[in-house]
Amino acid sequence: MDTKIIKKAVDRYLNQKGYEKMNLQAVMFDMDGVLYDSMKNHAYAWNQTMAHFGLDLPEWEAYMHEGRTGASTINIVSLRQRGYEATQEEIDKIYQYKSELFNSRPEAEPMPGALNLLKKVKNSNVTPMVVTGSGQKTLLSRLEKNFPGIFRRELMVTAFDVKYGKPNPEPYLMGMEKYHTFINNEKNDTEKISLAPNNFIVVENAPLGVQAGVAAGVFTIAVNTGPIPNAALFEQGANLLFPSMQTLCDNWEKIIEYLKN
Ligand code: CA
Repeated sequence: MDTKIIKKAVDRYLNQKGYEKMNLQAVMFDMDGVLYDSMKNHAYAWNQTMAHFGLDLPEWEAYMHEGRTGASTINIVSLRQRGYEATQEEIDKIYQYKSELFNSRPEAEPMPGALNLLKKVKNSNVTPMVVTGSGQKTLLSRLEKNFPGIFRRELMVTAFDVKYGKPNPEPYLMGMEKYHTFINNEKNDTEKISLAPNNFIVVENAPLGVQAGVAAGVFTIAVNTGPIPNAALFEQGANLLFPSMQTLCDNWEKIIEYLKN
């Protein structure tokens, strides 16, 4: 990517927010479709499940709903196709079917380029964090296996932490708060520092995730790892867009130049 595009995106963000400069401390990474190539399994499971129940949800559309609760996705399709919302019983049945189908798929691989990017982030003296709507209990051990020594439990936001989830800014606001608590825990009162959104960036693949990052006031980088048009991510306010985690990784040196003072 041309460095002019990166500079322009950063300048526009700083102007909008009234910050003098970026002072990047931590990167908040989404998980599904960013760190793991798991979205195709979700899209497949949604498509097949809906078909099983006589409803139509194309795989590409599942990417547009990524981050919504299961109930909300089911009701969008139900209202569109049948003109009424699904009952709670129906929602439970459909969602259980979807979860079982998803779990029967082979475990998703780490996203190509993710590990190298995480290593580069750490080497730039920036802290990588995970902010996900996922509630898998095995999450931390999986992350540790695939990305050894990169993440810390106290710097993770998962489905267990949040009330609303994306596209609400809550998960990213909580991520910033966790980082703040973490670095100030070891400092005495006079050394404690305050942080603002310009100390962070968000990396997201889904329109609703981008919406959450932008609503939290954070410079949000979209990685379009699925089949949706780039416009769907720019419409939600993505500040920069890369077609893959690998290209974001390849451009990290250029980006960090504008994000760290
Ligand atoms: Ca995602």
